[in-house]
Amino acid sequence: MRLYEYEGKILAQKVGIPVPAGKMVDSPEKAREVAGEIKGEVVVKAQILLGGRGKAGGVRFASDPGEAEKVTREMLATRVRDRKVEKVLVEKKLEIVEEMYLGITIDEINKRMILLAGKTGGVEVEAIAQKPGAGFARALVDPFIGVPGFRAKELAKHLGATDKGLGALGNIVSRLYALVQKFDASVAEINPLVKTKDGSYLAADCRVEIDDDAIFRQKELESLGIFPREERGREPTELERKGAEIDRVDHRGVAGRVVEFDGDTALIIGGGGASLTVFDAILKYGGKPANYCEIGGNPTVRKLQLLTELILSKPGVKRLAVVTNVLSNTRVDLVARGVIKGMLNRGLDPRNFPVVFRVPGAWEDEGFRILDKYGIKYFDRTHTMDEAAQYICQMGRS
Ligand code: GDP
Ligand code: MN
Repeated sequence: MRLYEYEGKILAQKVGIPVPAGKMVDSPEKAREVAGEIKGEVVVKAQILLGGRGKAGGVRFASDPGEAEKVTREMLATRVRDRKVEKVLVEKKLEIVEEMYLGITIDEINKRMILLAGKTGGVEVEAIAQKPGAGFARALVDPFIGVPGFRAKELAKHLGATDKGLGALGNIVSRLYALVQKFDASVAEINPLVKTKDGSYLAADCRVEIDDDAIFRQKELESLGIFPREERGREPTELERKGAEIDRVDHRGVAGRVVEFDGDTALIIGGGGASLTVFDAILKYGGKPANYCEIGGNPTVRKLQLLTELILSKPGVKRLAVVTNVLSNTRVDLVARGVIKGMLNRGLDPRNFPVVFRVPGAWEDEGFRILDKYGIKYFDRTHTMDEAAQYICQMGRS
């Protein structure tokens, strides 16, 4: 579960990481009040579950309470990165002299937490971190040892701290690891971690994700005002909503869990790990998926037909791949019938429109006969999903 910045900062404070004075509010009047309490210039920050707010108008400054009210009113009325803004964080504006990066997450390859520290943080950090010599230090954390003081200070030194700063910044490093431990976070990131004019270090931004499987034991979150919630990511697109409707038409099987992308290759794939493999293979061969769409559990011909029509209705779709692992619980012939009906209903001739099948499984002989009849290229189980992906990526290209 991803937390809002203000929630992350509550946890940061709890473990002793300094954060700017401020408060989350949900109305312009309250923003005015908080700005009055803070005195001086404030920053008004849109609370959405996405980064990149700085560049998208989601971080704005105000020099007095009146302006804070006005800025908040505007922010609550607009969208930031296409998300509705329902809350803002009003904070004391810092006099920043340096912006750094500090993060902890799971290193899936080494199966350990990894600490990342970068001398240059801020809104461009993704671009910066890609460049060689970007000054990013990494340190795997031994779970039996944690982050010893000397290790934390080493990272602080790497970030450019000297003298008293080593202790202050080192503390933030150890405490961020404490946060991860205490709250079962899978990500804890401070970007930017700032040094202010008076030499102190603070978390100017804070992103925390709590491991969903650990939420049941994180009872303290509720007492801090952080409540478990559905992960909603972005709002569903119209196409995705229609896909969900198609799946609801009939209880039999799954056909219509659609995620929309902006590519030109429509995908009907089997769900689970295999479909991720297909998705990756499409990308590997230079294809651009127009959607991610799972099928399984023997959906009806009608559901498949409607689904095919839906994903082919997306403007700019140039090819279709129906690729799954070996299906034991879904009839290949029904999949073939549904997809072909959908194509024909859209006025697409399967002999001309680039389409490939790799759907081995139950009733496959019947399925292959239907595909043959319509002149559709298919791969049987002696060929990999990867081959089918490669094939479709080369189709319809000159
Ligand atoms: P993000 O873009 O969603 O990651 O939002 P951040 O909270 O990281 O803010 C983006 C940028 O706004 C930071 O990198 C800072 O440059 C700037 N910023 C945020 N808070 C302050 C502040 O209190 N004072 C100053 N001067 N700049 C700030
Ligand atoms: Mn940030």
